Amino acid sequence: MKIIRTALEIHQYCSNLKKTGRKIGFVPTMGALHDGHLSLIDLSLLKCDVTILSIFVNPAQFNESLDFKNYPRQESEDLLKIGHRKVDAVFIPSVDEMYSKNEPMLEFDLEGLDLVLEGKWRPGHFKGVITVVDKLFRLISPDKAYFGQKDFQQLCIIKKMSAALHPNTEVIGCEIIREPNGLAMSSRNALLTDTEKLEALIISKTLFEIKDNWEKSSIQELLNNAKREFEKSNLQLEYLEIVDAETLNSIYTKSNSPSIACIAAKSGNVRLIDNIILY
Ligand code: AMP
Repeated sequence: MKIIRTALEIHQYCSNLKKTGRKIGFVPTMGALHDGHLSLIDLSLLKCDVTILSIFVNPAQFNESLDFKNYPRQESEDLLKIGHRKVDAVFIPSVDEMYSKNEPMLEFDLEGLDLVLEGKWRPGHFKGVITVVDKLFRLISPDKAYFGQKDFQQLCIIKKMSAALHPNTEVIGCEIIREPNGLAMSSRNALLTDTEKLEALIISKTLFEIKDNWEKSSIQELLNNAKREFEKSNLQLEYLEIVDAETLNSIYTKSNSPSIACIAAKSGNVRLIDNIILY
């Protein structure tokens, strides 16, 4: 497994691979790897000739400096975790390697997908996300890139950006990997105490309840019941919305198109998100 730290080297490495006709699978991450990340790596290993992982905590997508500072960073543990898998290269750039001073963010019209849900609560977040993903795609030119549905809005946004700017890269959405008790795996879970992890189960429990009662109850009833439960908990609910899975706009009556229930909630300073697809 090659460890590459410069943009020039990863670009050359990938250009050489491309010349041999091998299919490149790419898994971008911010590290603190868990089984959710490993599931994306395993899909790439299964479907592609070469698998490249990136580990980069992207400052441009953090709208709170404390969140950026506290984000878990554990490079040596990460490398151990993927050690026995056949990942070909891990790209671990520094911030200076990825961004020059005063570098502008990517300007790309996301047609409102960036203004709802996370976009309302984290201004500028998606600009930072598409900027770094565009940069990584330009360096690596992957044939397939793997993203989790855990960040459903991010997946929709990257699909849109990539279809326009990187038409030769197929963006693949992968299912959410959960702990046996239902908690969606997240690097941020490492920042929670054992008690907070148990308290955070209200997030997945709420989503499962909405899915289980989807046929029987109205959207308003489902949302009201869930919000009442959150009021009794130690988590601060930022949003709970049921949205159209394509436009990401809130829906108030059920339709035939797929919908998705999305939650963001805070346990202390740790912000957690999760979602579930409803049909
Ligand atoms: P992150 O390191 O949090 O930026 O995540 C890197 C990639 O892993 C993103 O595409 C995430 O959506 C994906 N991911 C994070 N958590 C999970 C999970 N529990 N299940 C599946 N994919 C995940």
